[in-house]
Amino acid sequence: MPKILVVEDNEENRDSLSRRLQRRGFEVLLAPDGKVGVAIAKAEKPDLVLMDMNMPEVDGWEATRQIKAEPDLANVPVIALTAHAMTGDKERAMAAGCTDYHTKPIEFPKLLGQIEALLQEKSGASPAIPNPT
Ligand code: MN
Repeated sequence: MPKILVVEDNEENRDSLSRRLQRRGFEVLLAPDGKVGVAIAKAEKPDLVLMDMNMPEVDGWEATRQIKAEPDLANVPVIALTAHAMTGDKERAMAAGCTDYHTKPIEFPKLLGQIEALLQEKSGASPAIPNPT
């Protein structure tokens, strides 16, 4: 099963995401901050990363930049979990190299759809919506 790394400093959110992903059959790796998240990404090579943006010290933007700078991790999709829709967090997340974003509070069915679409794209299956470029 695909391996998903959840980088999230809020324990309640982290546990909730972990449970729901595991129930769907995903293998889940957890990191409580950006620094640990980058270390686990390097060691475990997850298939996809869910990245909280607002974290102390190494935040999600910096952790994403570090992950994307690793040649063997550059193609791993990263979904940014942003707290506010209106603060420019999305744009900053995409600029840091995130593949997609999801605004909190998490709507799990929607997030699952985003995860599955990216995993499908990565596995080489043709995406549901053809890329115009
Ligand atoms: Mn947070």
